[in-house]
Amino acid sequence: MTQVANRRATTPRNGAGRSPRKHVSVLIVGSGFAGLGAAIRLMKEGRDDFLVIERGSEVGGTWRDNTYPGAACDVPSHLYSYSFALNPNWSRSFSPQDEIQDYLRGVAATYQVADKHLFDTDVTLAAWDEPRTRWLVDTTNGNFSCDVLVSAVGALAEPSLPDIKGIENFRGEVFHSARWNHDAKLAGKRVALIGTGASAIQIGPAIAEDVAQLDVYQRTAPWVMPRHDRSYSTVESLAYKHIPLVQRAARNAIYWGREAYVLGFAFEPRILQVAQRVAERNIAKGIKDPELRAKVTPDWQIGCKRILISNTWYPMLARDHVDLVTDGIAEVRENAIVTADGTVREVDAIVLATGFHVTDSPTFQRIVGNDGRSLADVWDESGQQAYKGAAVAGFPNLLFVIGPNCGLGHSSMIYMIESHLNYLASALQTVEKNGIARFEVRPEAQESYNAKLQQQMQRTIWQTGGCASWYLDKHGNNTTLWPNFTFVFRQLTRRFDVAAYDTESISSRRNERISA
Ligand SMILES: Cc1cc2nc3c(=O)[nH]c(=O)nc-3n(C[C@H](O)[C@H](O)[C@H](O)COP(=O)(O)OP(=O)(O)OC[C@H]3O[C@@H](n4cnc5c(N)ncnc54)[C@H](O)[C@@H]3O)c2cc1C
Repeated sequence: MTQVANRRATTPRNGAGRSPRKHVSVLIVGSGFAGLGAAIRLMKEGRDDFLVIERGSEVGGTWRDNTYPGAACDVPSHLYSYSFALNPNWSRSFSPQDEIQDYLRGVAATYQVADKHLFDTDVTLAAWDEPRTRWLVDTTNGNFSCDVLVSAVGALAEPSLPDIKGIENFRGEVFHSARWNHDAKLAGKRVALIGTGASAIQIGPAIAEDVAQLDVYQRTAPWVMPRHDRSYSTVESLAYKHIPLVQRAARNAIYWGREAYVLGFAFEPRILQVAQRVAERNIAKGIKDPELRAKVTPDWQIGCKRILISNTWYPMLARDHVDLVTDGIAEVRENAIVTADGTVREVDAIVLATGFHVTDSPTFQRIVGNDGRSLADVWDESGQQAYKGAAVAGFPNLLFVIGPNCGLGHSSMIYMIESHLNYLASALQTVEKNGIARFEVRPEAQESYNAKLQQQMQRTIWQTGGCASWYLDKHGNNTTLWPNFTFVFRQLTRRFDVAAYDTESISSRRNERISA
């Protein structure tokens, strides 16, 4: 028995044995911006032999799942959208969730990729089958195999639930921000909002008006800048619609404005002091009480954690029926939260705005490479790392669309996703042109890429800014963010650099099989 087979025997497999394997050339897991973009790119390249498997019941990923009150993007929509599908009809600079989700549905319809999808299907295991040079993919809806596996499962797709003593005994509603319970009526209720990250600062102001009491539990205060949001006039929308160059110009202006942040994040953190002054003024404007001001003022440099934007967060915290609680939570009781100082606060509902499993996603356990070890096993030892965020040694014929060190703190993730789509398209062309059956990034190429990347990381504000954040893994390394200008990443991923990979041709693999 191969190691893969041993591994598979111990891993839960819902689809095992239910139906024969269906083979496709390329199998994409996930249909958010990344997986949907990959499907469209493959179609545009004239490829038909692929399948997208998505556990949700439609496209959208982040924007299908995060339906909490106030959900919206925090990068202007004219940049936070596909370059090949600009939308002149955005209603405002930072579009709300439902508008982005509608946009993604519309793009999927325009490019007619729906019938390439298998929805409501969870990939439970993807294991590399070395003898047959293919991935065996088990799902809750049957078994599949493919020559090339594309992981587009998203970095912020697995909600992280806090391990709080007694939370299972709570009698009221308790749910995560990314799994909002729309049946839970919060109006007139006492609500606890746990977390003060990007989701929490959108949720708080959106529900504060309706609830009887809002307790906001803060572990670390975020820096919050003003949100320059406005609705677009009819004239602007008409101009975007009829003179596409105007929209391209707007998009470019946003892109370069955002890119300027990289100078501060990655090269000269002192530049960010200007932003910090603006954020300090935002606090002073929203909050008069000196004690509350002190509580919301971070003790680390701006940029070290994600910079948030809101005009309503501080005024909301200053309201009479809103309390900012900074003592740690000791336990949850049937109807209350108890903090470390012994204070008992009764609540009817708890909203967990506690983020996502980023560097320890459960997905990593489900991808098993050529030595029978899962990505989780490999990355637990080394920290998550990949070559150009796309390929991992030991995992042949696997490409990520957005893997390690591809995240951004300042600009649109769609730009990074589209860079990886270039890499994917080029990889598939190279494989086809050269009759390659198996490609695996060389360990030394991956090592030297990451050594250089981590060297660049050392000078960034994320390492030097004096904070602990979800950007860092348990080894203290930042394996989530890209430490340079995004156009550098675009350049790096422009072509599949086959020299960094060990390859085997179709004919040599066939001969191997015959002689075995
Ligand atoms: C609330 C919120 C706001 C954000 N705002 C911004 C913003 O303003 N600007 C920005 O640049 N970025 C933002 N982001 C980051 C955002 O996640 C990315 O911009 C982008 O949407 C990621 O797309 P994706 O396709 O890589 O991942 P996702 O959108 O997460 O899609 C991954 C898909 O994979 C599916 N999947 C996962 N595992 C499996 C499996 N085992 N089997 C089958 N399917 C699976 C999931 O169901 C999901 O549909 C935000 C994130 C959140 C959570």
